[in-house]
Amino acid sequence: MKVLIVEDEARLGIFLRQALSEHAHTANWVQTCAEAANALVETKYDLVVLDLNLPDGDGLDLVREWRASGFTEPVLILSARDSLEDRIKGLDVGADDYLPKPFSVEELLAKMRALLRRQSVVKQSLLERNGIRLDLLGHTVHVNDGAIDLTGREYALLEIFMQNGGRVLTRTLISEKIWSSHYDVDTNLLDVYMSRLRAKMEGALGRPVFKTVRGIGYQML
Ligand code: CA
Repeated sequence: MKVLIVEDEARLGIFLRQALSEHAHTANWVQTCAEAANALVETKYDLVVLDLNLPDGDGLDLVREWRASGFTEPVLILSARDSLEDRIKGLDVGADDYLPKPFSVEELLAKMRALLRRQSVVKQSLLERNGIRLDLLGHTVHVNDGAIDLTGREYALLEIFMQNGGRVLTRTLISEKIWSSHYDVDTNLLDVYMSRLRAKMEGALGRPVFKTVRGIGYQML
């Protein structure tokens, strides 16, 4: 599993990176909000271990931003701010668990395992975003409890967007995932599929679902 550690205290950061590596995780350690934001844009992580008091801001704001932009992986807050109010605030903005400092590595690893287990179960079965529900096992899509009839290709397209939250997806990336050899694909074909999917989804939801990002690709709203 790939873990991002956000911790400004060098001794603790190094210790955490070492401890996670010893337990077969690939851990990247950063010390500021800015570095954390960049790291998450550049690489896909399975879990984030997040300190709250950071030199350039509050970890809670990071969680809020990540959740708003569609980052769905677990966030485990690790903080000396351990009042009940702090914990509730952390969970309210979208963190998944809270471990007060000082902590034992065993407890941290156990909490991480629990979060990753939960995440993989969720991943296997259900994706939800803004009123759209995609069931990966049943291959069905529902909008506000009404079933939507999609072709196989349209379903695959929607799944890519649902898996990636609100990220802008490039035409190349989408094509690579939908067609096995994207080199042969006339890119107009992607636009045709996108416009069909868009018409069905927006017809059911009664609001825009996708945004065309000129020269780049598409974004799910
Ligand atoms: Ca700190």
